[in-house]
Amino acid sequence: MLSQGINDKIALQEILVDELTDQQLADFCDMLNTAYRAGNPIVSDQDYDFIYLPALRERIPKHSLLQAVEPEGVAFSTDKVLLPEVMLSTDKAYSQKEVSKWLERIKKSAIEIDFDTHAIQIKATPKLDGFAGYDDGICLYTRGDGKKGSNISRVFDRGLKVYNSAKRGQGAGEIVVKKSYFEKYLSTDFEYPRNFQASLIKEKSLDEKAQQAIKNKAALFVPFNQLPYWLGSIDELIYQFDIVVFDALSGVDFDVDGVVFEVTNDNLKTYMGANRKFHRWQIAFKENKDKAQVKVLSVTPQVGRTGKITPVAELEPTFLSGATINRVTGHHYGLVREQGLGAGSIIELTRSGLVIPKINKILKPSEINIPIMCPSCDEILQWESDFLICVNHKECPAQVIGRMEYFFKILSNSNGFGIATIKNFYNEGIRKTSEIYALTYNDLTKMGFGDKTSKNLIAERSKSTTEQIEDWRFLAAFGIARLGMGNCEKLLRSCLLSDVFILNLKTIENIEGFAELTAQAVVKGLKNIKNEFDLLIKYDFNFEITPLQKEITKYTHALVGKKVVFTGKMNSSRDEMKKNAKSIGIQVINSVSAKTNYLVVGENAGQNKIKDAEKFNIEILSEKSYLLKI
Ligand SMILES: [Zn+2]
Repeated sequence: MLSQGINDKIALQEILVDELTDQQLADFCDMLNTAYRAGNPIVSDQDYDFIYLPALRERIPKHSLLQAVEPEGVAFSTDKVLLPEVMLSTDKAYSQKEVSKWLERIKKSAIEIDFDTHAIQIKATPKLDGFAGYDDGICLYTRGDGKKGSNISRVFDRGLKVYNSAKRGQGAGEIVVKKSYFEKYLSTDFEYPRNFQASLIKEKSLDEKAQQAIKNKAALFVPFNQLPYWLGSIDELIYQFDIVVFDALSGVDFDVDGVVFEVTNDNLKTYMGANRKFHRWQIAFKENKDKAQVKVLSVTPQVGRTGKITPVAELEPTFLSGATINRVTGHHYGLVREQGLGAGSIIELTRSGLVIPKINKILKPSEINIPIMCPSCDEILQWESDFLICVNHKECPAQVIGRMEYFFKILSNSNGFGIATIKNFYNEGIRKTSEIYALTYNDLTKMGFGDKTSKNLIAERSKSTTEQIEDWRFLAAFGIARLGMGNCEKLLRSCLLSDVFILNLKTIENIEGFAELTAQAVVKGLKNIKNEFDLLIKYDFNFEITPLQKEITKYTHALVGKKVVFTGKMNSSRDEMKKNAKSIGIQVINSVSAKTNYLVVGENAGQNKIKDAEKFNIEILSEKSYLLKI
């Protein structure tokens, strides 16, 4: 076994996982698991799930911790008894994609037994982070190894109540303590609710705090069948996944560390069955805040379209929340300079929100390498606070290429004009987007594009002008500093696209959301793109014109100019409703804030939006009452 000193160092990440031998890693994981089950966790659940267990899985896949139902580790002197029903662990999914795969497996099973896939019902409940137990009405058992557990009926003798004032004998559940109560009365004495929860079931007599919590019904046994739940079809779950997850995570006053999804149709459940570890008809989705310790192989400077130099760290390939991550950007060179991000350093990589991984912190710094010259044009780089900048904006190849690529990216109504193609254009002397629009089929083939590619590029380019786009999106595609999509839309609410170049500083400053500095940057930026704009506008883009604020004032219904949030499932599609609302002078907003005027709710609406609306005293309208107002 490892000495306590070493354990502490590993837990504090002073000794990194990579520096442990397999045996040390195994011992440490065993110790973590025992401590966790005993209610004295040494590391956070996140670190356990995302750093130590994955390392163990990779290095010792046959380790017992990974094989069976996790043992609970609390030492009970009483003999183990057979549980009335086998209690398995729950299989886990760390991304929506994994949940989708599980849903596909359910559909497949349904088809195999001729069960109508539209009739499949999925139930979602919060996954409580408590102490698992089984109540058969006479005894309460711990989960033990899943087959045999210990009798801990003494907890009920001590006065523990069942959640919702439900009767005894509701089967599987968890002993938990209310989060609000824990924070108020217990958090100074116990580090985690889990420590306290374990103290409720121990054999020696209860201390005062535990007795009090039981008496106040803050400590409870919560049978799973008493939890608030969402129920719907597979399609409905996919359609409103985020809302279902959010509601489950925030719907109860207990520590929740995920969402349990399960099939409710008995025949299908029986058919899907279980393996040694878990039921195949059930899965726990854990929110995606994956972490890993990763070694940096090298750091390369990358020049963006605005001239900012970004350090890109090449990584030892690391599997994180369903994808292999090979590189991550370090935001700016200030990070490299201050924290020592370089080849050989070890970083903590996180991936939340499913998409872009980021460097959370640098665990072990190393020698750094700050570029002196722009890797694209050799211009001497300059520091602007934390940023390293190439000021050769006009000619720096990376910036010129970046600007052209950005145009098509923001328009996003055509394919084919990605970085590789744009680089080819650049090599053939193209410097501006307007020059791309002037290219003929012959020009393209002369550049070396094949017949098929050339035809395709011409077709995609005409798609970019014929497919409708918002006029503010077109303006944003020029990449003017401080004129992102949001500001472009605001700008075009006060004047037509064709008039933006005659706006003066004063007029722009008077538009809501444009302060002095922004207005200055906008005027300067517009001046810089004027020529290019005039060249491009000739290609007759199909604009969806932003309604002018003053036009809006001609509508007379009650919601003109009001900020309205739509939530839940509507009779007509929500996108359609939003579009209609915009067209008749309503400001459609995504989230509820103190400035919102109305919240329009459909079916299965997000509870948090409703709560926020109540908090800010915002009028809530049903779809029907909304339609009556306009
Ligand atoms: Zn440069």
